[in-house]
Amino acid sequence: MSRGEEILIVGGGIAGMTAAAAIARQGFAVTLLESAPEFGEIGAGVTLTPNAMRGLDFIGVCEEAAAVGVEPTLQRIQHWQDGRTLVGFDRSTQRATYGAPYITIHRADLHAVLTKAARDAGVDMRTNAAAVSSEGTTVTLADGSTVSGDLLVGADGVKSVIRQRFEPARPHFTGHVAWRTLVPVTPDLQDLSDHPGIIIGPGAMINRYNVRHSTIMNLVFFARQEGWNQEGWTTPVDPGELRSIYAGWCDDAQRQIEAACKQPMFKWAINARRPLDNWIIDGNVTLLGDAAHAMTPFLGQGAACGIEDAVVLARALAAAGSIAEALDRYVAARHERATFIQTESNANADRMQGQDTDLFGLEGLRNEESLGLFDYDPRTVAV
Ligand SMILES: Cc1cc2nc3c(=O)[nH]c(=O)nc-3n(C[C@H](O)[C@H](O)[C@H](O)COP(=O)(O)OP(=O)(O)OC[C@H]3O[C@@H](n4cnc5c(N)ncnc54)[C@H](O)[C@@H]3O)c2cc1C
Repeated sequence: MSRGEEILIVGGGIAGMTAAAAIARQGFAVTLLESAPEFGEIGAGVTLTPNAMRGLDFIGVCEEAAAVGVEPTLQRIQHWQDGRTLVGFDRSTQRATYGAPYITIHRADLHAVLTKAARDAGVDMRTNAAAVSSEGTTVTLADGSTVSGDLLVGADGVKSVIRQRFEPARPHFTGHVAWRTLVPVTPDLQDLSDHPGIIIGPGAMINRYNVRHSTIMNLVFFARQEGWNQEGWTTPVDPGELRSIYAGWCDDAQRQIEAACKQPMFKWAINARRPLDNWIIDGNVTLLGDAAHAMTPFLGQGAACGIEDAVVLARALAAAGSIAEALDRYVAARHERATFIQTESNANADRMQGQDTDLFGLEGLRNEESLGLFDYDPRTVAV
């Protein structure tokens, strides 16, 4: 394809920003529209597995992200009642096994690395640019102005405006709620920081891992809860609610709850999308990231999948003779994998939060690594 085409991306989150950098590095003119007044990410952590890190390598920032993240050497899954280790993971061999690191990172740090990559690649980046509707490949912004491209990419997250062109349905509440916070690693929490992992129990689990050179721990408390579905950083937490959900859980869990209750913490409903049959309209409109396949976080692969989409779309554009052909190649390469990961993420919630924790893993582990997800290489997969 000639490089004269203009690519318009709506949404500058992890997926949209990676796509902007990846596509611009292929020589295309890219405009990125972000509704927020500034580019940035929420105050929480994210795990990026080797498949995602290969995607970052494609835009030249794998080692830069690893340097501001943390590469864990050990992780474990613990029993909710007595805290005993059910399964241990040696992560020290990830680079040797997969040729790419496994990192945990503050989302703001990751986003800063991605934004720099997009800026360096020459992306035209616009903030305060909220898309309210689109027709063809023209987007109308909240201020009434319009922006057009030859290809329109919706990377505007789980509540995507662009996705409304594909289906009228809104995101659905999955029945899972997350309480998210960051705590400083004080001496009394050092042992927890040294042994990151997940405590699992019936209908709930707690995830902890390090960010910012292991000076800060990311804590996420998950539980099933019906009848509430707000997402965002505006719902403060009632510590009593958290303490009552995890009453009877082990000492490690109680210490994490008490540390979390001293910090700003917010309650977050996990909303998701059902798989879409098709990600293309008229050969020139498509979706990526959560806009295409928002999933539950129980395999820790949502952002990874968005990064993979971004790289594969960029490669498809570079390889194809037309935008329509590129989108066909992109969807052919990505749809099946994204749908598989969406489905397995839901199944993993049931596996990890089953009613009898003593049975966990007895029939073999089915998780993001054993499913083979880390082997995927968006730099080389056939497009
Ligand atoms: C508790 C929790 C833990 C998770 N942990 C992990 C993990 O460890 N590893 C992992 O890989 N994934 C994880 N995920 C999933 C991951 O966070 C998401 O899949 C990922 O952030 C989605 O990125 P995105 O860019 O597609 O969407 P978003 O992050 O939602 O970004 C969309 C962007 O578009 C902008 N936008 C929205 N609407 C408009 C509009 N109309 N006009 C212009 N701009 C707009 C938004 O402001 C935002 O910047 C987790 C999710 C949760 C909830």
